[in-house]
Amino acid sequence: MSQPEIFEKVISHCKEYGFVFPSSDIYGGLAAVYDYGQNGVELRNNLRQYWWKSMTQLNQNIVGIDAAIFMHPKIWKASGHVDGFNDPMIDNKDSKKRYRADVLLEDHQEKIRQKIEKEIDKAAKRFGETFDAALYRTTNPRVVEYQQKIDQIDATLKEGLETGNLAMIKQLIEDEGIVCPISGSKNWTDVRQFNLMYSTQMSALEGGEDQLYLRPETAQGIFVNFLNVQKTGRMKLPFGIAQTGKAFRNEIVARQFIMRMKEFEQMEMQFFVKPGTELDWYQHWKESRLKWHQSLGIKATNYRFHDHVKLAHYANAAVDIEYNFPFGFKEVEGIHSRTDFDLGKHEEFSGKKLRYFDPETNESFVPFVVETSIGLDRLFLLTLCEAYQEEEVDGDTRTVLKLHPAIAPVKAAILPLVKKDGLPELAEKIYNELRLDFNVYIEDKDSIGKRYRRMDAIGTPFCITIDHDSLEQGDVTVRYRDTMEQTRVKIEDLRNMLQNEVSITSLLKKLI
Ligand code: ATP
Repeated sequence: MSQPEIFEKVISHCKEYGFVFPSSDIYGGLAAVYDYGQNGVELRNNLRQYWWKSMTQLNQNIVGIDAAIFMHPKIWKASGHVDGFNDPMIDNKDSKKRYRADVLLEDHQEKIRQKIEKEIDKAAKRFGETFDAALYRTTNPRVVEYQQKIDQIDATLKEGLETGNLAMIKQLIEDEGIVCPISGSKNWTDVRQFNLMYSTQMSALEGGEDQLYLRPETAQGIFVNFLNVQKTGRMKLPFGIAQTGKAFRNEIVARQFIMRMKEFEQMEMQFFVKPGTELDWYQHWKESRLKWHQSLGIKATNYRFHDHVKLAHYANAAVDIEYNFPFGFKEVEGIHSRTDFDLGKHEEFSGKKLRYFDPETNESFVPFVVETSIGLDRLFLLTLCEAYQEEEVDGDTRTVLKLHPAIAPVKAAILPLVKKDGLPELAEKIYNELRLDFNVYIEDKDSIGKRYRRMDAIGTPFCITIDHDSLEQGDVTVRYRDTMEQTRVKIEDLRNMLQNEVSITSLLKKLI
């Protein structure tokens, strides 16, 4: 199966098995907005819970907060979002479609890149075993010319964005002969900056201001609560504040399913440190976060770090953790050393001191911040892309989600073999005991094979089958999702067995 085919399958699997639905489905959906279904919400809650516990429970010096989505509008002025949180947009006058100018150019570069790969494939076939692809890339005139084109586009786009010269970006789109994918025409408007924040009104705000923003990131809620938490929690540097919650961005280019949404969830942790120690902490969090990702059983080769070459003006180091999605390596999490920019700006705009008094040196200063910021929805998507598998079993295809048991939506299915002879009653008894600790499911419809397949498709790690022997011997058959092996387990041992396998503790142990 090709990568785009796998992605299409994951998307339809999400809808078919109650993981993700388009928002407002019966009204035709709402672009780039999604709802999580009965299985999706469990998986997502488990991922969030694992993140939360790994931050606040495993680290003595990290605590959590839950700040409101509505915040004082000055916060977004201070953070730079009102003036600088923009994407360059361009409209096609014929199709009336709006595009991100940088994305049009990136797509164009991707096409050129594909031409390079085609040339290399052709040459590899022609030259056979002796072919040196790396050498060919740097010496074949056509390939070199393509690569120069890609680099030129990068350089011009970068200059245009950095100097605010949007006419230069429009010129580049025209020079490259980029057409609208819908109308096929080159009839473009000028490029304009478009702010990504959604605004709304709130009456009776001080100073006559009434325009509010839906937060485009959760981080600011942490910065403005820095002193509240530090003082009430008697926190000593270094310490962190963690938060999960919704963020909103008016993303014009909505694509790749839940990869880029207008309403999404972030899980952010801001770690406050003494100035001068930030790069050591940055290194620490970089390693620690990658380890966290890998603890979910995701292949190490599917992750990579992508260092930011061009740093935001307030950062002195920044890296993305990227995952190899079916559509290529893309950012899932950012780790940024943000210096004292955020607290410094909030001091300036609020007029309140946001300083830490160090009892050891008797000095007060604005702490530096190292941030880890991950998108829960992107994490959800990568988890599904990684887990989704189709396997041949006895001439049949089984679709299985090989999720780590600790994040699987349903932990065990309790399945009486037949609907008579007291088996449903015993199943009910086991269900009633297990449901106190685990999300378990009981079902007596259809053949056992069909029931197994349905459970495989939602990633249920264990199926517990109750048969006639169970009544006499007090044991059941436990079927393992991944190997499909079956073993007999005493009914009284089921709880412990599940506890060991499906609790988040088993994941947390991998981190220490
Ligand atoms: P991108 O470059 O992909 O737009 P970003 O650099 O703007 O992402 P950040 O502002 O660093 O993203 O946000 C932190 C994390 O939030 C990202 O790593 C990503 O996982 C998530 N995120 C950001 N925007 C979206 C979105 N529109 N939909 C879903 N998740 C998002």
